[in-house]
Amino acid sequence: LQRVFSYVKEGAPRFIEELRTLIRQPSISAQGIGIRECAMLLREMMEKCGISAQIHQTERNPILLGEVRLERADRTLLLTAHYDVQPPDPIDKWNSPPFEARLKNGRIVGRGATDCKGNLMAILKAVESMLQTLGDVPVNLKFLFDGEEEIGSPSLPGFIEKNRDLLKVDSVVTLDAGFDPSGRPFVWLGNSGLLSVDITSQGAKWDLHSSRARLVMNPAWRLIWALSTIKDRDENVLIEGFCDQAKPPSVEESKLLDEFPWNDQEQKDALGIDNFLLGVGGRNALERLLFQPTCSVTGITSGYSGAGQKAVLPSRAQAKLEFRLVPFQDPDDILRKLRNHLAANGFGDLTVSVIAKTEPATTSLSSKVSRAAIKAASDVYGLAPVVKPRHEGSGRQGTWIASRLRVDGLLTGVGPPRWQGHAPNEFITVEHYLNGIRYVASIIHEYGR
Ligand SMILES: [Zn+2]
Repeated sequence: LQRVFSYVKEGAPRFIEELRTLIRQPSISAQGIGIRECAMLLREMMEKCGISAQIHQTERNPILLGEVRLERADRTLLLTAHYDVQPPDPIDKWNSPPFEARLKNGRIVGRGATDCKGNLMAILKAVESMLQTLGDVPVNLKFLFDGEEEIGSPSLPGFIEKNRDLLKVDSVVTLDAGFDPSGRPFVWLGNSGLLSVDITSQGAKWDLHSSRARLVMNPAWRLIWALSTIKDRDENVLIEGFCDQAKPPSVEESKLLDEFPWNDQEQKDALGIDNFLLGVGGRNALERLLFQPTCSVTGITSGYSGAGQKAVLPSRAQAKLEFRLVPFQDPDDILRKLRNHLAANGFGDLTVSVIAKTEPATTSLSSKVSRAAIKAASDVYGLAPVVKPRHEGSGRQGTWIASRLRVDGLLTGVGPPRWQGHAPNEFITVEHYLNGIRYVASIIHEYGR
């Protein structure tokens, strides 16, 4: 790879300008700003790097697919990232305009600098560098760039189902985000699942005077009674069979938990709390964060909640419930169990409607792709990566995409630690960007061996 690395060094000024060009094109999925223009720009950039690229229309934002074919290759690696960004708000908190991509003191500042355009460009420039110096890549490469990651990738499940033949691969690597706060690169081998629902209790047809509460059912009480059957005060979820499919940490995962740089006080300070739930701490807190399925109330509305009194008997009450799931819980199965639980406890009249769901997924530390990424990180950065057996979040990236394709996958990233993700003054350092290009080239190289 020495020739590839020299090419990165020589090409650095141009690579930096190309990343700035991509950042300057806004692509805010939440507001539908600049998406189409960014997709077109990206296709052109992919083609220039030697990747054959197509824009695929979905119901919302286009997904870009690309390929570099090697005739004698015996395996295919899918590299993914996303080209949409978070809104830049609050704009007045930025020291330079969010889409200027200002280069100052070795930093490129702009919305998407790390999340995810810096990561995405590291993929493109790694491929260009390999093709230009080696004339080839050691494996078949496919590419998928999502335009809806920051709004939960709603089109991705359907797109993957419909395009299975285009997405025949052996492993998946997603590039996004930045280093672990400890200053080491990171590799995530799993994601949490999610089931998010509205539970609604309906009383009278319209709001009534509250004096009628002596005669008419109050849906807010009914909702509260129903919720109190779902979880007890010791944090146990009481839905029958809720944890049946939840797998405790394997020997391999336990070892990763032992090695993880976890600090209770740092975490508590960051969360603004004095104690964790149930008084857990240390490794137990980390294990709970990554392996405990949960049910939480994320919103609850009914009646009057303004200042002063209003004598109202509400006609409706609604709660938002969110379940964080772990492998191998299935969101559809949990939904069925929730409905059965409500019916069995005399609350069959409450309606449950799904807001969002994501399947949990996991990949083994000993998979070929895991070993390739860990080796590449150690080689390029001189630091063993922080390997998380799974992530507490539920994004449709890395392991999740891999599990849909029934292969192994992971998520890693090239940005600096504390890169101000989703916040004003997001940045990537030139150093992290250029090393990121080397890192992606090394992953491809290791995977191809
Ligand atoms: Zn991202």
